[in-house]
This record gives sequence, structure tokens and C-alpha cells, in this order.
Amino acid sequence: MNLDKEDIKSFDYNEMKIFVESIGQKSFRAKQLYEWIHKKLAASFDDMTNLSKDLRKVLDEKCTLKGAEIIKIQESKDGTRKFLMRLSDGNMVESVLMLYKHGSSVCISTQAGCRMGCKFCASTVGGLIRNLRPSEMLDQIYQIQKIIDTRVSNIILMGIGEPLDNYENVVKFIKMLSDEHGLNISQRNITLSTCGLIDKLKELVKENLTITVAISLHAPNDTIRQEIMPIAYKYSITDIIDACRYYIEKTGRRITFEYSMMQEKNDKPEHAKQLAELIKGLNCHVNIIPLNPVSGRAGRRSGRMNIQEFKLILEKNHINVTIRREMGSDIDAACGQLRKRYVEGR
Ligand code: SAH
Repeated sequence: MNLDKEDIKSFDYNEMKIFVESIGQKSFRAKQLYEWIHKKLAASFDDMTNLSKDLRKVLDEKCTLKGAEIIKIQESKDGTRKFLMRLSDGNMVESVLMLYKHGSSVCISTQAGCRMGCKFCASTVGGLIRNLRPSEMLDQIYQIQKIIDTRVSNIILMGIGEPLDNYENVVKFIKMLSDEHGLNISQRNITLSTCGLIDKLKELVKENLTITVAISLHAPNDTIRQEIMPIAYKYSITDIIDACRYYIEKTGRRITFEYSMMQEKNDKPEHAKQLAELIKGLNCHVNIIPLNPVSGRAGRRSGRMNIQEFKLILEKNHINVTIRREMGSDIDAACGQLRKRYVEGR
């Protein structure tokens, strides 16, 4: 990020008004400016034709529009596209576009790197480099929106990083993304996936958002969870379920539990029964993800039969469950970081 200049794309609507006034402009300019940046997705201040030349010059001197830039695109046979994005300080993140009959989903990264250390995940190798700013999360979507014909309708925070470890920026990003002056994406169409930072999850309740929260559970008990996710030493599964119950009660929203199936680790019938017992009666949904093995990381993918049997046991116990449809699996191997898998028609 160029620190000499204001990161104008990270200004929410209110901050834009304050900024506009601070440079001696009438407040209605804030609306124009915000729409140029967040609705018309202008690439430069020069494109903002209803602003005077002088104002455009001032903005160009004071502010930057840089967020993320597409460096490379990988396309799968099913149309799924993976984007390598460069941030203005040279750090790289990845975003994925998935096309469905009813619209398109973009999966974005929230941090450069990650410090959660999940044993099976590629994004955490090398640890956390830094948090992404709202502009850098928004721009992953804007850059993709600019090159496709259809409107981006769903956003998934499941790329690189732990969203709740970058809480303030992520919450601001969600509010800006759903702002009527911007892309105006419904919060109901935004899914935030977290490994379960409970304190932050409770804080999130107070934001009054209507997003969907997905919890990366991946285990039916603490022993197994601790073996694959270091965060499990900090928060127990009981704490997680309690926090989820609180979240559901307060927001009325259904929670999704993600469960990546790993051979011999968490995929046995007894694990399914344990999981069912744990979440019985909760307004929730289980999303089974066949593990995507990452070289150098732990875990093998469960067999198809194991996955089916696991699903059946959950269903017998009246738990809603889907197996994540695999998209872009032919470009998946090269990625190993982003989840290009998403279930349709929940
Ligand atoms: N930090 C957030 C979002 C990151 S990834 C979280 O933990 O939820 C989105 C999902 O993909 C998480 O459920 C994560 O545990 C899972 N995941 C990571 N690596 C995987 C792999 N190799 N195979 C299958 N799922 C994986």
C-alpha cells in the first residue's frame, strides 16, 4: 500500500463525506465519488467525468485507487476461474470465480497468509504476512466483476486467511459491499468461514449482519480437532457449539459446519454419530468437503463410500447435510489453497 496516499477505496460512505468536505467540496460529491469507485468500478480518477478536471487532479494527487490487480488467470473445464491477485506492496493472494445457473460466486482472500496453522491447509505455510484492507478485499471482486458479463451475486470469504483474525477490516468490507451506494450485494448472499474464533464470533453478533457463518469444525471431538487444528487448544468444541447456539438465537441465521473428510482421521461411522450428537437440535447444516490433499501437508482424502456412509448416518439423525460439489477440480491441484468447491442449491 502506498502510504503517501489516502486509500480512498477503503472509505465507507460516511468517511467519504467527511473526506470530501475536508478538501473543500460539497457533500453531494461524496455520493458521486462513492458510486464511481464502488458501483461503476472506475479504474482512474480521470474516468470520473462528472467531476471537474481540477478536482480529479486533486484526488489523483492525494489518493490511490489501487487495491488488487489480476496477474494470472487459470480456467477450469467447468468454467471455474482462479485468479492470482497482486496487492500494491507486491504480496499475492488468490480469488476464485464459480459460475452457476442462478448467478456467480466469488471466493476471496482476507489475509496475505494465515497464522491458524491448520495441518491440512496450504494457506498457512509461511504464516501470516499481513491483514488485507477493505479496498483489497473489495477489489478482488471488482476486478473480477469487470471482466465477466453476469453480475456477481454471491461472495464467500473462504480464500487465504482467517476472516475473524482481521475482524475490523472484514466487517467494514461486508458493510461496504452491501451498501446501496456500491455493488449492493445482499448480506444474505455473503458467507464468512471461520476456524472458530469464538470471542470474535460473539462480537460479530452485535454487528447485526445477516450474513451466513460457516464454522470449520472438521472433527467430532477435541482430541481429533487438536491433532489437525491448533486453534482447538484454545477453544473447545463445547465452547464453539455454545457460541453457535448464541449466534443462532441472536441472529436467527442458520449456521453451516464445514467438515473436511480425512481418511482414518475423522471419517469413521463413530465420528458421524458423535458429530450428530453434538449438533442435534441446532439450526444448522453440515457441508462435507472431500479433503483436497496438499503436498507437504497432512491428510488423505476419504473414500467415496466412507463419505456416503458418513452422510447417511447424519441424515438418519435428522441433520441437514450436503457434500460440496467439486468445481474446477482440474485446476485444483495447482492451487491447493483456495476452496474451489461449493455446494449449489442449499
Ligand atoms: N480460515 C477460514 C477460511 C479458510 S478456508 C476457515 O478456517 O474457515 C475454507 C475452508 O477450507 C475451511 O473450512 C478450511 O478448513 C478448508 N480447507 C483448508 N484446506 C483444505 C484442504 N486441503 N482440503 C479441504 N478443505 C480444506
